[in-house]
Amino acid sequence: MKVLVVNAGSSSIKYQVFDMTDESVLAKGLVDRVGIPGTTLKHEPAGKDDVLIKKDLPNHTEGMKLVLEVLINEEYGCMKSMDEVGAVGHRVVHGGEDFAASVVINDKVKKVIRDCFDVAPLHNPPNLMGIEACQELMPNVPHVAVFDTAFHQTMTAGNFMYALPYDVYEKYKVRRYGFHGTSHFYVSHRAADMLGKPYADCKIVTLHLGNGASMAAIKDGRVIDTSMGFTPLEGLVMGTRSGDIDPAIVFFLMEKLNMDASEANNYFNKKSGLLGLSGVSNDLRDILEAADAGNERAQLALDVYYNKIKGYIGNYIAKLNGCDCLVFTAGVGENGIDVRENICKDLDALGIKMDAAKNKVRGKEVDVAADDSKVRIFIIPTNEELVIARDTYGLAK
Ligand code: ADP
Repeated sequence: MKVLVVNAGSSSIKYQVFDMTDESVLAKGLVDRVGIPGTTLKHEPAGKDDVLIKKDLPNHTEGMKLVLEVLINEEYGCMKSMDEVGAVGHRVVHGGEDFAASVVINDKVKKVIRDCFDVAPLHNPPNLMGIEACQELMPNVPHVAVFDTAFHQTMTAGNFMYALPYDVYEKYKVRRYGFHGTSHFYVSHRAADMLGKPYADCKIVTLHLGNGASMAAIKDGRVIDTSMGFTPLEGLVMGTRSGDIDPAIVFFLMEKLNMDASEANNYFNKKSGLLGLSGVSNDLRDILEAADAGNERAQLALDVYYNKIKGYIGNYIAKLNGCDCLVFTAGVGENGIDVRENICKDLDALGIKMDAAKNKVRGKEVDVAADDSKVRIFIIPTNEELVIARDTYGLAK
């Protein structure tokens, strides 16, 4: 069976086609600037040259129509007909408390996705638009939703509740959810394979460090805790998000900078983090370069970034009462040699010792811990699309 994986953002559609007989990727691509003048589609078929198509597309349905045309194109497509696709898997950011696993999409599932618009206003609306566009164009195959929040639903109330009046949980479901779940799921399972132990016997700390970043602590095959919370704003320092701060700063700055709630939301999500602190960029490569060239604020941003992560490592090792491995993944985790080295520096009291020579590697599945390190340090490239394809295939079968 072939499975189409779709990740629809507010103005983009990412897709991949998997052949589930061997889990190979037949083609992948990205439609960028959907609904904005200058739409492009970059299509990368396996074993053929990439194709770039420029054509303005007003909405997600037109975007998906073009994707389907490209997928069955005689010259650069990867199938003869869309009938070869047995199921479609959709990335959905927020599933609230209703979904601890992937599900076949029906009206009830769509209602839950819609009910979460309030708490995931940037992600769930375009996710649902992508689902509805695909359902319209492929009405006869199962569509599956794979939620970023699902893997973290094993957290117990002791870790997912905020110390707020209880009725805001009952009324508005204000609690911690966690995100990047498919990535934490994928890399933690690969880590158990690398440890050569059953998943349920492992104590794992995963570090998904991309532009958005989160960590998770996994024990007994379950997520115990994760750093993102009610929204992806909580936790680590990110490209443009502040991560954890004293919440009183929000009221203080709303008054001082004369911001309303939506401006404040934008300020802490889009103008803060590495970008706000360094004044250089949200891209960690730029910050590393600037710090190397002597830019003090870039170095400060890095120091704050590293310290926050180190704090979470200690926090999670305490909660797990031990740790078999740290796992670095996503853009920074997979490629940031200096970043990994700085994070793991001076953690030998926790049994964490990196081999600096082994760590000089990018984007490979490898153990970079010193031989005498009690905790293994793995780099594992993430593969969220493969998790979506597997779940979709499993449910469609
Ligand atoms: P997202 O999916 O959240 O947009 P990615 O997982 O693609 O993000 O990660 C993007 C981040 O990875 C950027 O901040 C980029 O600077 C960083 N990155 C990529 N390559 C390197 C590298 N060689 N060293 C350090 N950071 C890197």
